Amino acid sequence: MAKLYIIPTPIGNLEDITLRALRILKEVDFVLAEDTRVSGKLLHHFGIEKRLMAHHMHNEHKSVEAIAEMIMTGLSVAMVSDAGTPGISDPGFMLVRECLKQGIEVECLPGPTAFVPALVNSGLPVDRFLFEGFLPHKKGRQTKLKWLAQQPYTIVFYESPYRLIKTLEQIAEFFGPERLVCVSRELTKMFEENARGTVTEVLNHFKQKTIKGEIVIIVEGYNAKNEAASNDSGDDEDDE
Ligand code: SAM
Repeated sequence: MAKLYIIPTPIGNLEDITLRALRILKEVDFVLAEDTRVSGKLLHHFGIEKRLMAHHMHNEHKSVEAIAEMIMTGLSVAMVSDAGTPGISDPGFMLVRECLKQGIEVECLPGPTAFVPALVNSGLPVDRFLFEGFLPHKKGRQTKLKWLAQQPYTIVFYESPYRLIKTLEQIAEFFGPERLVCVSRELTKMFEENARGTVTEVLNHFKQKTIKGEIVIIVEGYNAKNEAASNDSGDDEDDE
């Protein structure tokens, strides 16, 4: 029976594609891609010629029903995003939900995603963690940071290089300057870096250089040790 395959793709190192991902990309009738140029290059690299259809945050609301209908006619479809696992801070959720609603089988392959290596590299507890993805830029940002500062779980943030300093400064402010963090930059790529230490130490490190590349921030969860440091600093002036 035709189904929807969710296919993770490399986050930097092309060797990270799985054999099964390649086989399914070859076998499906067409591939839904966040950016057809990006995925076209990836498929071309692996010698796969396949029909690509754009499926991204700007059209996913409108197109999910039509795609589910196509799958129900017997076509098998794979969804990829530009990098990593679709649905993780990327389009994917809406189509998965629609397919399940229509009784279509969905199969997500295991594979690359940025937060897993960042989390494990961090050396912070991985038994319980909270995936936060990108923080809101304005509305609700401080309220969220205040709440997160009190959670006893290791926290995962995705961040852009342009906002790293501001976010680390706010983590120091809301979580306390001694909270442990790990900033993973350019994972799986030639210039991969994992900077670990207190948020103050890591902030000083990044203030001394030009920050480039893709970034995951891992933050230690709240515990008795950092209780004193994480006080009730900050107010909600950006939350209107
Ligand atoms: N779907 C992807 C996944 O499974 O991780 C995430 C897509 S999200 C639009 C892109 C963000 O993921 C980047 O801004 C960065 O925070 C993180 N990211 C992606 N690749 C990365 C890498 N090689 N190193 C560090 N962070 C990365």
